[in-house]
Amino acid sequence: MLKLYNTLTREKSEFKPIDEKGKIVKIYTCGPTVYNYAHIGNMRAYIFMDVLRKVLKYNGYKLEHVMNITDVGHLTSDADEGEDKMLKSAKEQKKSVYEIAQMYTEAFFKDIEKLNIEKPEHIVKATDHIKDMEEYVKEIVDNGYGYETSKGIYFDTSKLPSYGELSRIDLKNQKSGARVEVDKEKRNPLDFALWIKAPKEHIMKWDSRWGMCYPGWHIECSAMSRKYLGEEFDIHTGGVDHIPIHHENEIAQSKGATGKNLARVWMHVEFLLIDNGKMSKSLHNVYTIDDLEKNNVDALSYRYLTYTSHYRNKLNFTWDGVKAAQVSLNRLRELTMQHKGVENKVDEEKIKDFEKRFLDAINDDINIPVALSVVWEVAKEQTKSNDYFNLLKKFDTVLSLDLDKEENKEESYPEEVEKILEERKIARDEKDFQKSDILRDKLKELGYIVMDSKEGQKLKKV
Ligand code: AMP
Ligand code: ZN
Repeated sequence: MLKLYNTLTREKSEFKPIDEKGKIVKIYTCGPTVYNYAHIGNMRAYIFMDVLRKVLKYNGYKLEHVMNITDVGHLTSDADEGEDKMLKSAKEQKKSVYEIAQMYTEAFFKDIEKLNIEKPEHIVKATDHIKDMEEYVKEIVDNGYGYETSKGIYFDTSKLPSYGELSRIDLKNQKSGARVEVDKEKRNPLDFALWIKAPKEHIMKWDSRWGMCYPGWHIECSAMSRKYLGEEFDIHTGGVDHIPIHHENEIAQSKGATGKNLARVWMHVEFLLIDNGKMSKSLHNVYTIDDLEKNNVDALSYRYLTYTSHYRNKLNFTWDGVKAAQVSLNRLRELTMQHKGVENKVDEEKIKDFEKRFLDAINDDINIPVALSVVWEVAKEQTKSNDYFNLLKKFDTVLSLDLDKEENKEESYPEEVEKILEERKIARDEKDFQKSDILRDKLKELGYIVMDSKEGQKLKKV
């Protein structure tokens, strides 16, 4: 039985999809705001999303999963203050917002590939769904939950008695508290923008029934999830920072438009800390996958590190910690490979017992640290057997650590070939693809075909 913790109920309970017969699970994940490189904290949230997918598949479910790309509307504060993150980044980098969006979306996809994160079935861009969002806002207004001010269309939180149910905030306290209210036109302090009237100089704006506007960040997820998954779906994921504002507001919008809470199970990943503190630009500790690689730590070692803590616990990142994770992962791969191809029959009961313990762990609210300890036990079995190798490969369909990767088995080639490979690596690092292609042809003349993979250049004899 698969049990998942639901932030909405604060309980771990048996997971049953809405489409129990068809075994289809519908999921929505709040994706990246593509104004900058995603950092390893963000990646913790996407690794979790991927593990959740793979646990569901391991349990025989099919997936219908949507992740959005936020390329408009996310202001520098999650509440409706500050500049649009995309515009700010575009200004700073002297690029158009569309160039910024494209550049960081591509970088995001490269990173998730390195982390063995599978792409959800639907990846949808906010700017492609502006009309859907406008219609959604109209429904909220028509149902009496929205009102217009000189700044935009706002959600009236006082009309929804259940507002605050996800974060369990005390609304009375919030209203009489010390929070300074800047916008006098708002009816209640917690009311939030659905649709924002764009000042003249604002670049990303669309003509709408309320004039030239742009959407609020929260509306994009309500509108796009409904479009692809319907009014009610199974699981919604994100980081814990989304609970009090973004997800609370998604629920309010959906209740305002359809009367329903969009998702049944709300799952949230705890934060990654760096040296036990927050990541921040001023501390120069906002690391990316690229930064890890520059320090000779590969992406999957970081993935392994995230498995050392349950997703609902904070995880502390240190360089020593991630390097230790790399050593552990390489050892685990080595042990796995020792089982490969060894013809030794293992007692079926023993295999079944390992399988059960692994399944119990992943089905106990995705307890990967415990599942990983079962993996180590199998890998360390004194008796080497291909049965264990197959079992480890099966477990790796969830963990995605490339356990069957042969580590450090670099082949040696003639000196001349090695020299060209080195030169070509430099050319590629410098993005000199013309030179890289010339060197590829040279290698071909010497009898080798070169292939570029995540792990670098690989040679095959012609
Ligand atoms: P953003 O692009 O800012 O919307 O964030 C993308 C995802 O990363 C969201 O699910 C956030 O909740 C999550 N996130 C942001 N910072 C961290 C962190 N330090 N640790 C874990 N997850 C994070
Ligand atoms: Zn969202």
